Amino acid sequence: MTALPASVEIREVGPRDGFQNEPETIATADKVALIDRLARTGVKRMEITSFVRPDVVPQLADAEEVLAAIDVPDDVALSVLIPNDRGLDRALRQRDRFDEIAVFLSASETHNQRNVNRSVEESLATLDRVIARAHGARLRVEAIIATSFGCPYEGRVDRERVLALAFHLMHAGAHEIGFGDTTGMANPVQVGEHFAAARAVLGDGVQLTAHFHNTRGQGMANVLAALQAGCTSFESSFGELGGCPVPPGATGNIASEDLVSMLHEMGIETGIDLDAMLEAAGEVWRVLGRPLHSHTLVAGPVDWHPPAEG
Ligand code: ZN
Repeated sequence: MTALPASVEIREVGPRDGFQNEPETIATADKVALIDRLARTGVKRMEITSFVRPDVVPQLADAEEVLAAIDVPDDVALSVLIPNDRGLDRALRQRDRFDEIAVFLSASETHNQRNVNRSVEESLATLDRVIARAHGARLRVEAIIATSFGCPYEGRVDRERVLALAFHLMHAGAHEIGFGDTTGMANPVQVGEHFAAARAVLGDGVQLTAHFHNTRGQGMANVLAALQAGCTSFESSFGELGGCPVPPGATGNIASEDLVSMLHEMGIETGIDLDAMLEAAGEVWRVLGRPLHSHTLVAGPVDWHPPAEG
């Protein structure tokens, strides 16, 4: 267990992970307004869309329009999710509009087949190519390993297998490895052991990022376990969007506002203005027209400051 860090990096993934998983497609103008608002909360990293096939993910069919229309401060690093070469071809036509790409595969064979209709081996070959091309375009690359902590079809996923994939992707040129708890199966003990082992295997030359879902209420406990194991990079979603909203009430990514609230209360800097993040979450609640359930959105921020005397 290492000392807790003084600050962490947070990537807001709601505009991709969240909007993709909404049953309805959010209007492009609403997406743009929400992204522009989020980009002014103090967050310095955002994943804003995905260049997946529009017929497969109609919710993000407007990737080009969103990228062209957003107005984001220069110091906010924008990432787009790239599934394959064709997705990268599309994204590179707007190369000047973003800074990094995220590529992904699943650690579990069954989840990878169901998600992208390829074997893990085939996905690795695709990712190798896409990462090399991204380097040619001077793009930073995050490689996300979904189902790193468990698979809804196969159950527990072998850590050696996950770390071997991470090792491969690091050597293929990924600057950052994101470990995704895609369906919220991770527990804090597992997470602590995972990040300690990942750092030992991968060394200090690659950024390690935690992507937790709060499906079973363990998201914040997993964040603490990752922090204690030296992880300083997290992904979260405003309004706790993301994941599968069916059955009704099931939650998705850990909520950005819950993450920021907890970290600030612990004395860990994020650079994010919690009130501004809560306003953004309130705004997406209004746009979606259904109540959102992040704890801080419902309860409000901690207000422990004593009233001024006199
Ligand atoms: Zn997610």
